[in-house]
Amino acid sequence: MTTLFELPSAPLVPIEGRPEAFPVARLFCVGRNYAAHAREMGMDPDREPPFFFTKFGTTVVPGGGSIPYPSETADFQFEGELIIAIGREAARIPGDRALDVVLGYAVGLDMTRRDLQLEARNKGRPWDAGKNFSYSAPISPIRPVATTGHLRSGAIRLSVNGEIRQDANVADMIWDCREIIAYISRFERLLPGDLIYTGTPAGVGAVVPGDLVEVTIEGLAPLRVSIGSSEPEFA
Ligand code: MN
Repeated sequence: MTTLFELPSAPLVPIEGRPEAFPVARLFCVGRNYAAHAREMGMDPDREPPFFFTKFGTTVVPGGGSIPYPSETADFQFEGELIIAIGREAARIPGDRALDVVLGYAVGLDMTRRDLQLEARNKGRPWDAGKNFSYSAPISPIRPVATTGHLRSGAIRLSVNGEIRQDANVADMIWDCREIIAYISRFERLLPGDLIYTGTPAGVGAVVPGDLVEVTIEGLAPLRVSIGSSEPEFA
């Protein structure tokens, strides 16, 4: 059977040292995974079970570059994050085997319409308008586990126009990569092509058109994203 139209193809994320790209399926994003960030959001950083939300795979921006300032917000914020790229299936995987399904790691941004996210949060509504929108998930090239080993610690830093705004260590995550994979796989079978955004440290803030956001994690390729103007209407 033919199809009425073509769907957009999956975003392709380069994998360092390999000729094949990583086709993106789905994004799982962990919330409040650094105590200092939970506090700055006005929440209790106690070690309650992790929670996650999702973004469409099509929100990914491979390699960074320029992204448009989104519509319907006056508070467009950055969240620098470590990303786990899933390379094998995992359903209800035990924690001690969870890292076996990791293909590699990358640096990412969970861009957020903070005003819409907080309004939704405070009304007990879903976060989609604040989180799941086009160009909201830039990602660096993936560094394979074969190259880097598993990433258990390392400085994570984000700057805007050269000024450091987030400065933490991925070792400070409340839930580590092993625990995150095991937890999410209890609810949904993780598949090759899935990405997990593991949460942001303290220091989140707003950007405006013209800003340059740079995110680094020790041992991984850096990510650079510039904020463009608003997308034209009716495009
Ligand atoms: Mn986030």
